Amino acid sequence: MSTERILSLIGALPVPVLVIGPDDRIRATNAALEALLGSGLIGKHHITALRQPAVIDAIAAVRKSGTTASVRFVNRERDKDNVYQVVVALADPDVVLSFEDQTAAEDIGKMRRDFVANVSHELRTPLTALLGFIETLSGAARDDAVARARFLGIMAHEANRMTRLVDELLTLSRVEEEERVRPRDQVDLGALLASVIKGLEPQAAAADVTVDLVLKANPLYVIGDAGQLTQVFSNLVENGIKYGASGKVLVVTLEEPANHLRLRGQGVQISVADKGDGIAAHHIARLTERFYRVDSHRSREVGGTGLGLAIVKHIINRHRGRLLIESELGQGTTVSVYLPMASLS
Ligand code: ADP
Repeated sequence: MSTERILSLIGALPVPVLVIGPDDRIRATNAALEALLGSGLIGKHHITALRQPAVIDAIAAVRKSGTTASVRFVNRERDKDNVYQVVVALADPDVVLSFEDQTAAEDIGKMRRDFVANVSHELRTPLTALLGFIETLSGAARDDAVARARFLGIMAHEANRMTRLVDELLTLSRVEEEERVRPRDQVDLGALLASVIKGLEPQAAAADVTVDLVLKANPLYVIGDAGQLTQVFSNLVENGIKYGASGKVLVVTLEEPANHLRLRGQGVQISVADKGDGIAAHHIARLTERFYRVDSHRSREVGGTGLGLAIVKHIINRHRGRLLIESELGQGTTVSVYLPMASLS
């Protein structure tokens, strides 16, 4: 087959392909391969282009045996290692290499492993504490009524933490499952915010925080999932109370509908603003990652699981809205939710 014909055939393929002639020099490549390894490879010895010993050995082995081989090929692209599975096949007298991108599959595998490791770690800490107290109560502190009462209190706290973690994990998986289902309820946003704030009154009072609700438009109806939107604003108001308590006040504002660039159209903005300690800029982009916490000790102390904002983000995605976190150290934090009008009508 002429080189022109080979070039035209592999040029039509979306996967990177490299053809090595009988003289071990590169005979043909396609655009996908040039995007991967660079252009100007034709005529070069394949060792200069490929460099990785596993691939070079596989080429020699395939030439010798005539059977197909499959090897891993790691390529550094823009500060990230991308992983390919390279199939080396003999098309006598040439050897053909095709590259299958495995990066996404490997990333998903890594995310799953990280997730399991995180969940196990989060559960292990309270479990270890519980086991320690059970041992103490059945031994040394068996007849000590004061210690017993204190330890039981701590045990209840730890058990509650595990329950909350499991509940939030279940919520997260339910929310993810429904992410592509369009919400259908008519939701009165002002009433929803008022009821969220009422539900959190005891918590606000305990932290000595006043929660103000400012409704610039009322009533304001949107189409959404009432239960999920309640969850979003509960999480945000709760965070404001937990982490912004030093500022004493929390202001929840429902703005009038307006044209928002962020939504590329009409929408409503709801913001939850505290005057607490704020969050350093480099943390902000990562807050919606599962288990990401600025200060995990403090989060655990106030009963946090690190899943609240991940849940918020998924629910807002389902509503085709946007989440914006603005914060300044020492000044406070404002979390804004933008919900589009278009998908809500
Ligand atoms: P958690 O269960 O730990 O509260 P979230 O996902 O709700 O988890 O929040 C992630 C982290 O973001 C928190 O641990 C906290 O460090 C930070 N954070 C969230 N809201 C605020 C806020 N209003 N002020 C300061 N930090 C906040």
